[in-house]
Amino acid sequence: MCFFKLRNSNILIIMKRITKIDGSKRETRTRSNAIKCKEEKTAGNSKLDNFKLESKPKLSRAGTSSENSRKTKINHLKIEYDDVIPPVKIKKEEAVKESKVIKKEFDDVAVKTEVDGVYKNEENFPKNWKIVLNNLREMRKDHNAPVDSMGCDQCMDEEANPIDQRYQALLSLMLSSQTKDEITHAAMQRLNQHGCTVKNIINTSDEDLGKLIYPVGFWKSKVKYIKETSQMIVDQFNGDIPKTVKDLCKLKGVGPKMAHLCMKTAWGEVTGIGVDTHVHRISNRLKWVNTKTPEETRNELEGWLPKELWSEVNHLLVGFGQQICQPKKPQCATCLNNELCPFGIAELKCHKKTK
Ligand code: SF4
Repeated sequence: MCFFKLRNSNILIIMKRITKIDGSKRETRTRSNAIKCKEEKTAGNSKLDNFKLESKPKLSRAGTSSENSRKTKINHLKIEYDDVIPPVKIKKEEAVKESKVIKKEFDDVAVKTEVDGVYKNEENFPKNWKIVLNNLREMRKDHNAPVDSMGCDQCMDEEANPIDQRYQALLSLMLSSQTKDEITHAAMQRLNQHGCTVKNIINTSDEDLGKLIYPVGFWKSKVKYIKETSQMIVDQFNGDIPKTVKDLCKLKGVGPKMAHLCMKTAWGEVTGIGVDTHVHRISNRLKWVNTKTPEETRNELEGWLPKELWSEVNHLLVGFGQQICQPKKPQCATCLNNELCPFGIAELKCHKKTK
């Protein structure tokens, strides 16, 4: 009994103490209660003194006082601001100054050039275009891209007569659409061995022709186009390929790009810029044009680029696109134009950030 009494009394004391602690916690939350506490303290209330000594460490350990949390926030913010490094702005002129770019321009092309009786104004030309073009020549000086050894102008049978060679040039262009130069070149070798003349191709069955040109892209459609085109050449053009862009475009599967390239390859006449996927992509990356389709690119390029460069620019950009300025992951870090090309500048900036 005595034991229970003692325990009960102890429990009572503890309960009272808890009640006091809770009560006094609430008290400290308001200013009036704080004043009250102070008054009680000064009146020599030893029990309250005891409570305060016990309760203070509890509050500070919890770290929930508004003052403590404010301090934490301020410290945190300070650290954040200290960590921010202001971006270094490099002026474009300075970037170009320290460039590895070959700055030499070429003098053999007149900037003001007359096209259709209209003189072009140099001010409207893309900035640094001559330097960029010279750098392209430098990067392509080894002539070791697929287009240099296996392009459409390399697919003709040297032994064939000029009419057959022109036909072969047209066929290689038709096969080259959506197809790598290596595959087109191999298919043309098989066709040449088979006998690549208009009459012979007309007399070849669709099945055999398919086997000869496979695996060029869209080979089934191309079999039909080649057959129809060959028949048109015989029926409407006396067995030789047409000699104008307009007539070439009448042939099945031949568009303006192919027609301009064919005029150059087969007839040795420059009538326009052959804009394929490489020329279209790179011209836009260099901001030489701002276009959505290859045909728009051709129109814009022909609007300012001197005509004497039309043929060269196609060949330069196709090989450059095959070797350096590929559709995915262009090699901007090693490109001589990386400080003049807007796409390359942005690409390298982005690459530095992600490092
Ligand atoms: S810098 Fe890059 S995107 Fe520009 S031309 Fe060179 S490889 Fe192409």
